Amino acid sequence: MEITYRSTRGGIAGVSASDAILQGIAPDGGLYVPDKFPCFDRLRDLASWDYQTTAYEILRLFLTDYTDTELRNCVSAAYDSKFDTDEIIALEKHGGAYYLELFHGQTIAFKDMALSILPHLMTAAARKNRKSGETVILTATSGDTGKAALAGFADVPGIRIAVFYPKNGVSPMQERQMVTQQGSNTCVIGILGTFDDAQTGVKRLFADETLCRELESEGFRFSSANSINIGRLVPQIAYYFAAYGKLVARGVIECGQQINVTVPTGNFGNILAAYYARRMGLPISKLLCASNENNVLTDFIHSGTYDRNRPFHVTTSPSMDILVSSNLERLLYAVSAGDCEIVRKLMSALDTAGRYDITDSMKEGLADFYAGYASQGMTAARIKAIYDDDGYVIDPHTAVASAVYAQYLKETGDTTPTVIVSTASPYKFPGSVLEALGEPTDGDGFEQARRLSALSHVDVPAAITSLKDAPIIHTGVCKPTEMKQAVRDFLR
Ligand SMILES: *Cc1c(COP(=O)(O)O)cnc(C)c1O
Repeated sequence: MEITYRSTRGGIAGVSASDAILQGIAPDGGLYVPDKFPCFDRLRDLASWDYQTTAYEILRLFLTDYTDTELRNCVSAAYDSKFDTDEIIALEKHGGAYYLELFHGQTIAFKDMALSILPHLMTAAARKNRKSGETVILTATSGDTGKAALAGFADVPGIRIAVFYPKNGVSPMQERQMVTQQGSNTCVIGILGTFDDAQTGVKRLFADETLCRELESEGFRFSSANSINIGRLVPQIAYYFAAYGKLVARGVIECGQQINVTVPTGNFGNILAAYYARRMGLPISKLLCASNENNVLTDFIHSGTYDRNRPFHVTTSPSMDILVSSNLERLLYAVSAGDCEIVRKLMSALDTAGRYDITDSMKEGLADFYAGYASQGMTAARIKAIYDDDGYVIDPHTAVASAVYAQYLKETGDTTPTVIVSTASPYKFPGSVLEALGEPTDGDGFEQARRLSALSHVDVPAAITSLKDAPIIHTGVCKPTEMKQAVRDFLR
């Protein structure tokens, strides 16, 4: 079955997967979505497949203009010894739930799951579509996408990458990971603003026709490594199937039995991938959307009103400090049965008034979601409770999800086997984790990591130890209004 891609805002349709991946965002400012959901009918096989096979089988259903060989090559180049486990992902049972550890890649955050493969998908796409010139990846990051994208795209021929992060809105370790990035095609800049400022700024650059024309004449074209790119989203669907296969293989569930998933959510990419998996036939009953104090999604799922006009909180889970969740646009498209006009109206209301209300029939489409949020106090208490139980240490993002799951369990008594998506290694946030555990937090991040290691009996990952003596390469800082000039300077 051939799948093509169309914009959520209706301006374009019939775009091949490879072309959609190259473009990143649709020309009308919308996001690319598949024109239909492929059906996955090999549930029984999942339990015996390795991660690479599952990834390949999912990718081929969506990326139908790639050849089998191209996809196999992309998969094997992505999911290899860069990961610290042969199984690529891990599923760990603690306190009655299953923690799906997606942080075994080279930057120890779940973003590696998609950003290990996106550069390969993009290079293959440029070749297929006979695009000459260079692709310029513009990325806004709330902390983890930046490093994962830099690691994936560094020194890839034909590609340059610029990353914008909120200068005072990421953890010290996250910043250190980015500013030490090597590769002559990389550029990292701190924004004097929030992640939302960085993301809006990047979207503006994509939509700036004068800039795009100017760069085109110099042989450059923009693309995105954010989860607005469908090439990021599709690889993320695979791990939900892989997790399901593991549960069947271990005898936790029978094939066909329902599970719940809990996802710590920011830009709504990860949980949207779970929703897509469900639409393809994966037996997921409830999708638990977990937020931190920036709980705009909790309110939206409860009420059908999205309102970003509220205080912005800098929390211990910085990768979820987001008030404008880009991928929600894809959910709006899905629950309106593909009504581009409504999506366009809502997005324009968000732009001008910072809020919108969805219709009652769209609200019905949200019935499979449960939403909750955890304050910083609840998050810290959860880290401590899980550790006290059996010595397992989770990071603050995972802890937000775990706390919301506990809340759900208390409210509903629903004992459906539940997967909690574990999105980052605790070693990315050693200070916050030690504080939650009631341990001293003095010393730098490396000293904190050593202390954490003594408590958890898990070695400090090489992704952290290798940063200690790495020289700082990127020192650029700019205002959100200066992003355009920063990109020009980088490319000249
Ligand atoms: C990016 C990120 C999230 C949020 O994921 P979305 O796909 O943006 O919802 C959660 N936790 C961590 C550690 C992240 O890096």
